[in-house]
Amino acid sequence: MHEMWCGADASGEPVWHVLTTDKTLTLCGVDKREEPRNQAVDKHCLPCMKAFQAVMASTTS
Ligand SMILES: [Zn+2]
Repeated sequence: MHEMWCGADASGEPVWHVLTTDKTLTLCGVDKREEPRNQAVDKHCLPCMKAFQAVMASTTS
């Protein structure tokens, strides 16, 4: 299943990304690096959300 990962987006802001099923990459293509987890982040990465929805749509159809 897809896990969330908190990290900087393309503009450097911390957001929640969605990881690929093997947990090595983000769906939006941002590098997944080890960064301090900031659970206070409540923003989600828009490209990841769109990609995630596309994945969900393709697996349920
Ligand atoms: Zn992302």
